[in-house]
Amino acid sequence: MAAFPDSYLKSEIAGVQAVVRKGRYSGRSHGRHAGEDRFLRILLVEDEVMLAEAVRDHLLAAGEAVDHTESIHDAEIMIRGTNYDVLLLDLNLPDGHGIDLLRALRRNGSAMPCIILTAQDQISDRIEGLNAGADDYLVKPFDLNELSARLSAVARRYSGNPNPFVALAGGVEVDLAGRVVMINGAQIDVTSREWALLDQMVRRPGQTLSKRQLEEALYEFGAEIESNTVEVYVSRLRRKIGKDVIKTVRGVGYRVGG
Ligand code: CA
Repeated sequence: MAAFPDSYLKSEIAGVQAVVRKGRYSGRSHGRHAGEDRFLRILLVEDEVMLAEAVRDHLLAAGEAVDHTESIHDAEIMIRGTNYDVLLLDLNLPDGHGIDLLRALRRNGSAMPCIILTAQDQISDRIEGLNAGADDYLVKPFDLNELSARLSAVARRYSGNPNPFVALAGGVEVDLAGRVVMINGAQIDVTSREWALLDQMVRRPGQTLSKRQLEEALYEFGAEIESNTVEVYVSRLRRKIGKDVIKTVRGVGYRVGG
């Protein structure tokens, strides 16, 4: 699979113009094999530009998908549109305190794993962060390899989620943590983009997702979004997992279950 060049994608979500730097996605590199795409989808909220770029470049090189923003406001919008695996959260941000964002997420029932990025002199903030529902924290300046290790640990813990398996129509079963799709127990191969779409729908059973919402899931993989891109991936998925799993809601979008 070819690597996609870095690009700036402008997306208008909920009436707000957010210019989001999207990373390339190098799906098959770093010893990953077909059907074994265990990359993480990470949201980095950090306003120190140098640090943010270093973190982002490091994670992209490791094959993860990374979105970056400097503000709580944009982070909230991005979290509404995408299921991130891990939130990397700075505390002192231009438009507020990271802990307030974390508290709001937990209040709304989000279990999204969160690692706090904090300065040495903010010990009380660290404790407050853990109390507010953070999974771990890193003290700046941190070693990027340590970041990777913490990310893996948090993701592993998350994959110990009591119910990562979701049974769908036609003997199809999805392991959300392991990112595996099975039909009658046999694993089938789906591409990263097909997974991104399926993941969005399976995590919101019975809810109809608009084409726009599903396009958002594809942006971060550097996919060229054409007017029929979602239809193309839905039809590829249907060829692989049968016609009954993804339902078309005419004029509205698509849904799984319900
Ligand atoms: Ca900061």
